[in-house]
Formats: sequence, structure tokens, C-alpha cells
Amino acid sequence: MDGERLLSFCSNDYLGLANDARVLAAFKQGAERFGVGSGASHLVSGHGVAHHALEEELAAFVGTPRALLFSTGYMANLGVVSALLGRGDTAFEDKLNHASLIDAARLSGAAVKRYRHLDAARLKTLMETAQGEKLVLTDGVFSMDGDVAPLASLMELTRAHDARLLVDDAHGLGVLGEGGRGTFEHCGCQLEPAVILLGTLGKAFGTFGAFIAGDDDLIEFLIQSARSYVYTTALPPAVAEATRASLRIVQDEGWRRAALQERIAQFRRGAAQLGFKLLDSQTPIQPLILGDAGVAVQVSEALRQRGILVPAIRPPTVPAGGARLRISFCALHSVQHVERLLEALAVATPARA
Ligand SMILES: *Cc1c(COP(=O)(O)O)cnc(C)c1O
Repeated sequence: MDGERLLSFCSNDYLGLANDARVLAAFKQGAERFGVGSGASHLVSGHGVAHHALEEELAAFVGTPRALLFSTGYMANLGVVSALLGRGDTAFEDKLNHASLIDAARLSGAAVKRYRHLDAARLKTLMETAQGEKLVLTDGVFSMDGDVAPLASLMELTRAHDARLLVDDAHGLGVLGEGGRGTFEHCGCQLEPAVILLGTLGKAFGTFGAFIAGDDDLIEFLIQSARSYVYTTALPPAVAEATRASLRIVQDEGWRRAALQERIAQFRRGAAQLGFKLLDSQTPIQPLILGDAGVAVQVSEALRQRGILVPAIRPPTVPAGGARLRISFCALHSVQHVERLLEALAVATPARA
């Protein structure tokens, strides 16, 4: 930044694939073969062999019959929710859901009921009196707190109330589970027809775009009725080719997830020794709650002076009084990098309990 080299602890490139030589090579070859832009929407002529192959490989990876590419995760959420719900229906949202899930339900015209973070008992009460089609929406890994949705309870509730469940696993896919299949694998849950999985490709996959995974009926329905799928230019095919390369690495190189977990554990041990109170997160998202927005900005600035980049996250991105440093880790961080972060935090932060 401004000509200065900084050590970053704020990227969502959790596995370090955005700059991987194999992903870059696939991107270049994809551009040479297919050009830069896709030239049209999927339904007109923008959908090519690269998109198609990626969809098949993503479906096989997560274990669903089909997958459908969207240009971004934000658009995928808008598309799927407004296709499934309308006036007279009900959307249930965890209070800490990502903005795109909140906006998606609003756009659909359905009634929106928000339940306390992770509180399946509260959700049950709300579901008992709800009208119309019911859709429960949740992050798999919560983007600002790093904790994990109680998928088994949510699936049980949706079954009991003849509802559907949409899990946005933007921060879980590639990272959680032995095979990197995300929050479902982490929780030991199987995908089933009433469950819709959204994955994004701009985070652990290191590229760009998103997909919805589900059965044939769901995917065919979305191709006809998800407006953010139908009325937008298809992802550049070279991005699809790059993502195919990164998907292979996600599957083949389990050491990246193991290295990430080691750095997370190192940070949590060190931060606890320094007297920091951390949230209960086993994911690469490790928030350091500072409360006051001004304090968060000061600490972020003090880290920056020590060559470390962690921007302050302030309301309205997080609740009032919840300003924080959202520290995130990458498989390519070294032991020394994490030591540098801990040393800088020790001097940059105000007195701790
Ligand atoms: C990043 C993110 C999105 C948006 O994905 P993009 O591809 O960046 O539009 C959606 N949901 C969650 C939980 C996210 O963290």
C-alpha cells in the first residue's frame, strides 16, 4: 500500500491459491483458448465447455447431482431466494447472516423473520406460526465471527416443518472438513434434496464466481427463473478454467488445510497468553473484538505502522459495540508471520483484562 510492503491478515484467500502457478497457468491458457470475456449470458451463448466442465466437477466435489455457476455469491443468493420465495412466504435468517442473504430475502417480497445467532430453539418457535413456503437461510461459517452454523439442528427443523434450507458456505468450502467439502463435512451432515448449498469461488478457491449445488429439479428451475442467472453475462471462461485447476488443488493438497489449522492454533495459543479474549472459532476467521470503533481504527493503524495489514471492521458491517479486527489466516502464512502478528498486537492494543 502506498509503495509499502505489508504482511496481510485480512484476505479470504485461505488456501493461498490466488497466486498459485498452476491456477495462473490455467487462467492464461483459458484466456488464449477462449478469449477474455464470455460475450453473452449463459442462456444465449456465454455458456461454454469450460463452464460446463467446472459445473460437473463442482457437483462431483460436493456430492450433488448438479451445480450451477453464478457470476458472484451475492448474485447467487439474490437469484436463488427470489426464485424460491414470493409474497406470502417466509424467510428465516440468523441475525448474523451475510448481507447478501438478508438482501436476497428482502428482494423476494417474503416475510423475513430473524432469529438469535445460532438459536435453533428460537427458530423452531418462529417456524411454528409461519405462512407459505418456508426457507431457512444461514451462513455455514459466519463471515465476521468465524463460528459454524448448527447444521444438524437446522436440517432437522426444516424436515419437521416441510421447509428448505439454504446454506451459504462461502467461508467453509475448501477450508473445513478433511476433504475440504466445507461445513457439511465438518458437521458430519449429508446434503439432501431440501438443502441448497451455495459456494463461492473468490475465497478459498482463490478465483471468482459462485455456484449453487442441488438436484436436477432445483437447477433446472433456477436456470429458468433465477433472474441474476438469466440476465447477466456469464463468468469469463478463463476464470472457470482457473477454478478447475484450483478445485483439483483443493482436493489433492490436504496439507493446506492442515497448515492453516496449525497457524490458527498457534495464533489462538499466543493470543490467549497475551490475555486476549477470542471468540469460539476454529476457522481462519479469528476476530479480535475491541468494541469501540475508534479503538479498532487506532489498533489497525498501529499494526500498519509495524507492517501488518488488518483493517478495522466497524458497524454497520458488525453490530453496534462490536468493532473488531477481523484477522484471517492463509495456508501460506509461516510460523514467523504469525509470531510477527502476535508481537505487533502485544504492543498495538490497549491494556487487556
Ligand atoms: C463473500 C460472501 C458472499 C459474496 O460472495 P461474492 O462472490 O464475493 O459476491 C456471500 N456470502 C458470504 C457469507 C460471503 O462471505
